[in-house]
Amino acid sequence: MKYDYLVVGAGLFGAVFAEQAKHAGKRVLVIDRRPHIAGNVYTEEVEGIQVHRYGAHIFHTNSRRVWDYITKFAEFNRFTNSPVANYHGELYSLPFNMYTFNKMWGVVTPEEAAAKIEEQRRDAGITDPKNLEEQAISLVGTDIYEKLIRGYTEKQWGRPCTELPSFIIRRLPVRLTFDNNYFNARYQGIPIGGYTKLVSNLLEGIEVRTGTDYLKQKAELDAEAERVIYTGPIDEYFGYSLGALQYRSVRFETEVLDKPNFQGNAAVNYTDRETPWTRIIEHKWFEFGKDVDGNDLPKTVISREYSSEWKVGDEPYYPVNDRRNGELYERYLQLAKKERRVIFGGRLGQYRYYDMDAVIDAALALCGRELG
Ligand code: UDP
Repeated sequence: MKYDYLVVGAGLFGAVFAEQAKHAGKRVLVIDRRPHIAGNVYTEEVEGIQVHRYGAHIFHTNSRRVWDYITKFAEFNRFTNSPVANYHGELYSLPFNMYTFNKMWGVVTPEEAAAKIEEQRRDAGITDPKNLEEQAISLVGTDIYEKLIRGYTEKQWGRPCTELPSFIIRRLPVRLTFDNNYFNARYQGIPIGGYTKLVSNLLEGIEVRTGTDYLKQKAELDAEAERVIYTGPIDEYFGYSLGALQYRSVRFETEVLDKPNFQGNAAVNYTDRETPWTRIIEHKWFEFGKDVDGNDLPKTVISREYSSEWKVGDEPYYPVNDRRNGELYERYLQLAKKERRVIFGGRLGQYRYYDMDAVIDAALALCGRELG
């Protein structure tokens, strides 16, 4: 065998595993069916701006181990995510914080905000939230649920909030302070120069073949390596033999605008049901300070994001982690356990709504078990 490991997929999971394997003296080949590395964190430069081609990625983590590891491969800027919600032209601060509550209800103190939420929760009669709708109302009340959560979530997931798992909404903090940092994380930022450069640094000195589709050339590629790290969709690996898992896909409409500032923020979420896109990303604000540097660039690049149900041939983005898909995934997992030479990893390989830091953490944990 020419290689110890064939890594299928040059995204974060694959790149971290490959870097560690190489470090441990293993012979590694990384392949990807796309014409480029970096998976969905891929960025490319347009008009001097790093454009997040497969959706915005803001790195954040509480893990010292993950932060210390990843910052060896890129310097991170001090970007802090604080999206704005646009509900039919009314603007609200996100995540849910005192600015949001003040705009929604005119309340001024944390006690007043807490009392308002409590009153709406009591009126809705929810004691033990069983789905996203009930979880959202019990966290922030009905007004915020109706204006800032319901429309966005139903566009994003294509399902009623009563049919979605409550953990999705618990990703967002609720704070009785004037802190509009979207993440409760110790470390946060965007790699300077873009994510593609970060992944390229991880893969330095490792053989990479892009435009190579593993499942189309499985037999010949398997013959080259002792073991396979597979980061593609687990159901696709098995030819969808038990049926397809559900994913949400995203379509981006990206435009270069001949103006320096379109929306004044990296992310504006359109939380009403009627606007067809979920959010607009203005990429320059991930990199530049909003006050001076960004406005010095004469142009700006924006992406409107449209969410859709995935079908075979589309790019999968978000696993739909409801009970039905969870059960189907468990059955695929049983098949996966029988593939002795193959390890499944990453958002698609493990069918998990992983953040980037969790992907890195999982890859490092695998390295600990696999590479010794
Ligand atoms: N969400 C919402 N309104 C918003 C932003 C998010 O209701 O303005 C909900 C929605 O259900 C979404 C979930 O919170 O799916 C998680 O949002 P997050 O920003 O973490 O999603 P991602 O950035 O991964 O797409």
